[in-house]
Amino acid sequence: MTVKELDTSYVANTYKRFPVEIVRGKGSYVYDENGKEYIDMGSGIAVNTFGLSDETWVNAVEAQLSKFQHTSNLYYSEPCAVLAKKLCEKTGMKKVFFSNSGAEANECAIKAARKYACEMKGEEYFTIVTLKNSFHGRTLTTLSATGQDRFHELFKPLTPGFVHVSANDEKELEEILKTQKIAAVMIECVQGEGGVMALSESYVKNLFALAKKYDVLTVVDEVQTGNGRSGMLYSYMNFGVSPDIVSTAKGLGGGLPLGATMLSEKLENVFGPGDHGSTFGGNPVCCAGAISVLDRLDDGFLKTVREKSKFLFDAFSGAKGIKSVSGMGLMIGLETEKAASDVVKECIENGVLCLTAKNKVRLLPALNIPYDALNKAVDVIKRACAD
Ligand SMILES: *Cc1c(COP(=O)(O)O)cnc(C)c1O
Repeated sequence: MTVKELDTSYVANTYKRFPVEIVRGKGSYVYDENGKEYIDMGSGIAVNTFGLSDETWVNAVEAQLSKFQHTSNLYYSEPCAVLAKKLCEKTGMKKVFFSNSGAEANECAIKAARKYACEMKGEEYFTIVTLKNSFHGRTLTTLSATGQDRFHELFKPLTPGFVHVSANDEKELEEILKTQKIAAVMIECVQGEGGVMALSESYVKNLFALAKKYDVLTVVDEVQTGNGRSGMLYSYMNFGVSPDIVSTAKGLGGGLPLGATMLSEKLENVFGPGDHGSTFGGNPVCCAGAISVLDRLDDGFLKTVREKSKFLFDAFSGAKGIKSVSGMGLMIGLETEKAASDVVKECIENGVLCLTAKNKVRLLPALNIPYDALNKAVDVIKRACAD
């Protein structure tokens, strides 16, 4: 049997895969089973921060792998401790809980917010406000947090304690904060799965001001937007706000599964022993990869991300067949005249891997993608949109 046949026969049918089998990659180039080369404009959904099999990252991971691969959270280990320190120093947050995915990072954020609100305001303050069109994960609780009915239909009953309000509507938010018992407000500064929609700066600022006024916590889901993707280390930094809780995952490990939930000073002691845990969380190999990723995301590098972002916005804005360009940093959505899925299909045929989000073509290249690859990809994508 071919790999495609094996997969179709034995892997649960939850993914609509593109007809491409990836067999190897280097940087922003990947190769399929027939040796065909593609420029990777998706980086494994914002995971491969420095592309595939990047040398610095591979060296960091291999060095840890040959020391030990796992030890459990019953013992201390250096990569986990060092990574937590780096995250705190770069964000001003005070404590980090490590997990293995974005959904788990959000689960931890939700538990932290509920415990804090319960202790400070009372156990009836468990509700978390999230935005319509948001995406926070696939576990039942993060699915409940997700403000898109299409994900909910078949999985009821959902976890109680979530209300969804429209993005960029301060009045609706204030009404809820004024009239209901709320623990926290949770947002993505750029909605990724929801169609690469950046929240307006005034809305984010007002949301933080309202959260302060009504004494509710702020949680920013940086699973997709984090780790340099937005052009700043974390996307909230573009808005000059200071969240109480930040969750991240995807690009943090640079290709290995790692989630992190960062707690500000207010919540630094919210958890005690036994309140939360994870067998694999803070795995030393994943943390070693993440340390090498974070070390490279300095101000000079982030500037190059913003420059590449501008290059892409300029290249696509007003191009034939492209109705609008949205997003931030190297997280870009193209509203196309043709169906996004047709554009992506044509790009694959012409050697460029793109993603979709809702009705948009979504681009999430590796943050170090070279300009020659970007130029080639832009040509292919523009042609696919135009014809
Ligand atoms: C991908 C994503 C998640 C879920 O992450 P998993 O690692 O798939 O669990 C949560 N929130 C946002 C904003 C995401 O983009």
